[in-house]
Amino acid sequence: MEDCIFCKIVKGEILSHKIYEDDLVYAFLDVKPVSPGHILVIPKDHHENIFDCPENILSQIIKVSKKIAQLLKDKLGVEAVNIFNNSGGVAGQDVFHLHFHVVPRSKKDNMKMGFIGKKDLNINLEEIKNKLVLES
Ligand code: 5GP
Ligand code: ZN
Repeated sequence: MEDCIFCKIVKGEILSHKIYEDDLVYAFLDVKPVSPGHILVIPKDHHENIFDCPENILSQIIKVSKKIAQLLKDKLGVEAVNIFNNSGGVAGQDVFHLHFHVVPRSKKDNMKMGFIGKKDLNINLEEIKNKLVLES
């Protein structure tokens, strides 16, 4: 992808603060961190988001995210992390090259992340479950 900023980062055409690299995955500091040590874990090949990324690459991204969480704990004394991915514009994806955020959290950070479950949404859980059963 010629115009993809994260492809350029993987190729070294744009500077990044690399934390980790293997055959499939590249990890680097987010340029606009939510907290110190905010890291992005991405596939080296261009995949837009969770929908088009092969499972073996996603597995490696999660494995690396775990290692990075441990690294943040060991080296920065981070006590908790949020690991999340935005897949699709409506979900808040700004850069359309798959990335998982690993965000250090602390009691003092006052950060508001998360969602509020709606009690009164009048959703029929049974109906939705019947549409969504996934074969193993
Ligand atoms: P999204 O909103 O797509 O889930 O997250 C995109 C993330 O990429 C943002 O947190 C943003 O700060 C980060 N980002 C965007 N451009 C660059 C860049 O050129 N370098 C780095 N290191 N991070 C970037
Ligand atoms: Zn890309």
